[in-house]
Amino acid sequence: MSQPSFERVAVIGAGTMGNGIAQVFAVRGSQVTLVDTSEAALERGMAAIQSSLARLVKKERMTQSDVDQTMSRLHRCHSISDIGSPQLVVEAVVERPEVKSAVFGALDAVTPPDTILATNTSSISITEIAANTKRPDQVIGMHFMNPVPLMSLVEIIRGHETSDATVARIVAATEDLGKVPVEANDFPGFVSNRVLMPMINEAVFCLMEGVATKEGIDTVMKLGMNHPMGPLTLADLIGLDVCLDIMEVLHRGLGDDKYRPCPLLRRMVAAGCLGRKSGKGFYDYSA
Ligand code: NAD
Repeated sequence: MSQPSFERVAVIGAGTMGNGIAQVFAVRGSQVTLVDTSEAALERGMAAIQSSLARLVKKERMTQSDVDQTMSRLHRCHSISDIGSPQLVVEAVVERPEVKSAVFGALDAVTPPDTILATNTSSISITEIAANTKRPDQVIGMHFMNPVPLMSLVEIIRGHETSDATVARIVAATEDLGKVPVEANDFPGFVSNRVLMPMINEAVFCLMEGVATKEGIDTVMKLGMNHPMGPLTLADLIGLDVCLDIMEVLHRGLGDDKYRPCPLLRRMVAAGCLGRKSGKGFYDYSA
């Protein structure tokens, strides 16, 4: 195997996205430290990687020996202060500005000065995240899509101070993972979620107002628009809390009421119905 773009990578957050990001870097040959404050999240994250790799073996896209080597490149820890000296950090903690600010402040304090700090944020300003560090030229958005091992797009977002050299290294690293980078500028939601989330939010309004059943709404978008899955199914996959957080960022950041989160979305999140990850969202996954 040739040398990966970054030999040592740390991924902060072992949830839906973090474990997928850790997996693709480890498969490519990087030594990856996966960090989460929750032991249960680390356990779930490592188990998710194991079962994702097992599926690849079943499909004969990897051998068991590749899997064993990949797993041996994955290390786990609970605290950012124990991540050592990664050349690249990809942050994938919850979509809350105050949490990301604290994480970037801590990363800036513990990592070597030349480490690139990337965030997988779906919608929060890269410029604001970078302002928590003394290296805003080395802070960048690296927005993977869900599920990470399967989806080829990575949206690369340049903050106000991000240097051309940082963009070039992250574009090259994305291609080295076998993925397709697309550059975007730092506006709320970038391209992907500025277009996707209002569609999901509108689908929730349709459900709340009784325009059609959930199955009806999803079928219209699948068969009528040729989408691979309906917007309510997709919201369950993304996580309803993540969808709500992104709508709040769009609403605040763009100051337009067309981005107001649907009250039904708020109510479901308050009830803990978060989609697949909680076992219940618009659909039931308990079985
Ligand atoms: P998630 O809720 O599944 O996982 C977040 C993880 O972060 C949890 O395991 C939590 O314990 C951990 N965490 C929280 N604070 C932490 C801290 N201070 N240090 C270490 N770990 C901490 O969330 P997710 O869906 O994986 O989303 C993560 C990021 O990726 C968000 O910014 C989200 O907007 C973005 N994103 C999500 C999707 C998606 O489809 N879910 C797609 C693209 C981007």
